[in-house]
Parts: sequence; C-alpha cells; structure tokens
Amino acid sequence: MKYDYIIAGSGCSGLSLLYKILQTPSLQKKSILVIDKNQKKNNDRTWCFWEKNPGSFESIVYARWNTLEFISDDTNKKVDLGPYTYKMIQGIHFYNFVLEYAKKFKNVVFIQESIIDIDSIFNEAKVITKKNTYTGKYVFNSTNLFNPKINKQNSLLQHFKGWNIKTVDPAFNSKVGKLMDFSVSQENGTTFMYVLPTSSTNALVEYTLFSPSPLKQEKYIKELKKYIKEVLKIEKYTIEHEEFGIIPMSLAKFEQNPKPNVINLGTSGGYTKASSGYTFQFIQKNVLDIVKNLKAGKSPVQNLSFKNKIYRWYDRTLINVLLTKKLTGKEIFTIMFKKNSAHKILAFLGNESTITEDILIMKNFPKIPFLLAGIKSLK
Ligand SMILES: Cc1cc2nc3c(=O)[nH]c(=O)nc-3n(C[C@H](O)[C@H](O)[C@H](O)COP(=O)(O)OP(=O)(O)OC[C@H]3O[C@@H](n4cnc5c(N)ncnc54)[C@H](O)[C@@H]3O)c2cc1C
Repeated sequence: MKYDYIIAGSGCSGLSLLYKILQTPSLQKKSILVIDKNQKKNNDRTWCFWEKNPGSFESIVYARWNTLEFISDDTNKKVDLGPYTYKMIQGIHFYNFVLEYAKKFKNVVFIQESIIDIDSIFNEAKVITKKNTYTGKYVFNSTNLFNPKINKQNSLLQHFKGWNIKTVDPAFNSKVGKLMDFSVSQENGTTFMYVLPTSSTNALVEYTLFSPSPLKQEKYIKELKKYIKEVLKIEKYTIEHEEFGIIPMSLAKFEQNPKPNVINLGTSGGYTKASSGYTFQFIQKNVLDIVKNLKAGKSPVQNLSFKNKIYRWYDRTLINVLLTKKLTGKEIFTIMFKKNSAHKILAFLGNESTITEDILIMKNFPKIPFLLAGIKSLK
C-alpha cells in the first residue's frame, strides 16, 4: 500500500503535524502511517514556550506564568511578559492527547519499528525499517538519520538535569518563574538555574549549561542539591520526577529537505533555535506552514523566509561568540535583560520582532566581538 503521508518519528514534531493534519477537514481523510521505535508512554520531557494567544495545545497546558525573574551578579529583575504567556506542557500529556485524538481516525496507522533508512524514488519516498519498506507520497522525518555531524568546533550542547520537587512546607510563589539564575558557578561554561513553580509546594528545578560536553551525573545532582538547600532554603523535599536532556546549539546545517519528497521536522529540520535550544514553538509554526501548503495542494517543502534566514544568522553569530569565548552566556543574557523589556526580548528570541527592534536589542552588545562573529557567520 502507498500512503499519502508517512510520519517517521512520533515525538513532538511528528505528533504536532499529525494533530494539525487531522484537524484540517480537507486533509483528515488522507492515509497516514506513523512509525516510531518508541511507544511514547513516558513523561520523558517538559516543554516550555511562550505565545501571545491560546495555542493548539491550550487544553493540556500544565502551568503558565506572566512574570519571570532574571538573576545575575548585580541584576535581579522580575519582568512582566506583556502580551506573552510562558507555558509548560508535560510530555506525557502531549503524547496521550494526540494519540487519543488520532484513534478516531481509521485512516491513521501506527507501527512500532526502528527506521534504518529513508529514500526517495520517482516522486515518492520510502521508509525502510528492520522488517519492512513503506512507501508514501511524502515522508515527514524527525529521526536523526540526516543530522549533520556535531563536534566541539561547530557546536555547544545545552545539557540539563531537572527535578520536579515537592516540599513539605510552602516554598514557592507559583506566579513567578525563574527563567535564568546566573548566581551559580560558571566554572563549566554558561550555567544557570531554571525554577518553575507549579504550586506553593511544587517546582521544576533545572541545572542547565551551555558547554562543549555533558558533565558526570553526580555533578548535576550535587549542584541541584546545593541550590535547593542554599538558595531556595528548602530542607525537606521529595523528588517526584526527573528529566535529563541534551539539545544541540549548533552552527552545523540541519537539512529541511534532505531528499525529494522527504521533509525534515523538529530538531532534525533545524527548528531548534541554536542560541537558546527552544524548539516547541518553532515546531508549531512550521507544522502550520506545512499544513497550509498541503491544504493548498502545494509541496510541503518549506523555503526559509528572509526574516527566518536573518534569525538563523543572529543565532549563528551568538554561537560563534560563545564558541570563541569572546563573551560568556552570562554576560550576553545579562546585557539583554538589563537593557530591554521582557516582551521585546521574548519577541526577539521567538523570531517575532521587527528589524528595528532587533537593532535596538543588539546595539547594547559589545560591537567588535559581535561584528567579527557576524561576518564569520555569513558563510
Ligand atoms: C528533556 C528535554 C526537555 C526539553 N525541554 C524543552 C523546552 O522546555 N522547550 C523547548 O522548546 N524545547 C525543549 N526541548 C527541545 C525539543 O523541544 C525537544 O527535543 C523536542 O522533543 C524535539 O522534537 P522532535 O520532534 O524534533 O524530536 P523528538 O520529540 O525527540 O521526536 C523524535 C522521535 O523519533 C523517534 N525516532 C528516533 N530515531 C528513530 C528511528 N531510527 N526509528 C524510529 N523512530 C525513531 C523517537 O523515538 C522520537 O519519538 C527539550 C528536549 C529535551 C530532551
């Protein structure tokens, strides 16, 4: 059988696309095959992102904040997000929500197999697993089969360990999230704590670094314990859940369209913002664009808009500055948060600002290192 669409990888981007297709009357009867090696039954990650309006997954938003805190040596700012809301979705709620929704559609088939190759032939594409070969008009891929080589010259890693803790006594203000607390040691590279309280006794506390390689697990644990005790002043708590992640912050090119009729989504398609690691909101924008094209009977292959090319250049410039150690992440984010309102920063980091707003934000950065990195990043 030949499918209309094959979704290779049913994580964040694969399931976001599936959901949008199934919500679109002219596309919801297409034959769709979804392949993943994993059943998506674990709460393997928490997604945070910001948006102005209710989004596609509003009903499963677990917590939200309109005020965030930024802390560095001489800065302690609680900032109002203006038109934006910072939101959190639990991975497992997202997987269950989309998989439950998709059950209503007999034209959607799920299989659990490991994909070993994806190729294209005569205006269609095929997915090869260890057991079978499947053919479709288009393959939407989010496996890492086509990912570029990442190394210490072209990439930093954003690596983090987060604990969902429950305290015995009330310890948090659930209205204020701590986006970045740079008061921790910077001995291993750009390092900050991220604290998102979901009630007065619950919070996600995450130890996050941007550096060439991950640390030993004991180090994350030691730093989390130290911060909870010494900064948050919490003695009694239990760890209800933990997550560990490594996200590439890379100059390497992630292909959007590695072969005819094969479209890369998510991190594999370059939708992880290199300078911050945020991906969820960029995935949502990308799947909307894909569905718009499919609805119009056009190819789902995306050409980057001029503005998005500019944003990718900004991201590469920032990575170049960090890789060459001209400035630290702590210095860059401190300048950014000291001099600008939060909603302008979120618009900038969310690829939603105007060129004039970009210039106003960037004029505060030291000229020479950014200029040199900017020129290098034009390549
Ligand atoms: C712990 C963690 C927390 C994160 N938090 C945030 C956050 O707060 N905000 C944010 O914006 N981003 C966050 N990210 C980054 C990013 O949003 C996520 O990594 C996101 O899941 C990327 O979506 P994706 O579809 O590209 O990849 P995935 O969600 O990883 O989906 C890829 C899918 O492909 C499947 N697969 C892979 N290889 C094969 C194969 N060979 N055969 C079959 N199936 C295969 C996998 O099982 C998986 O289901 C986080 C990442 C991690 C790891």
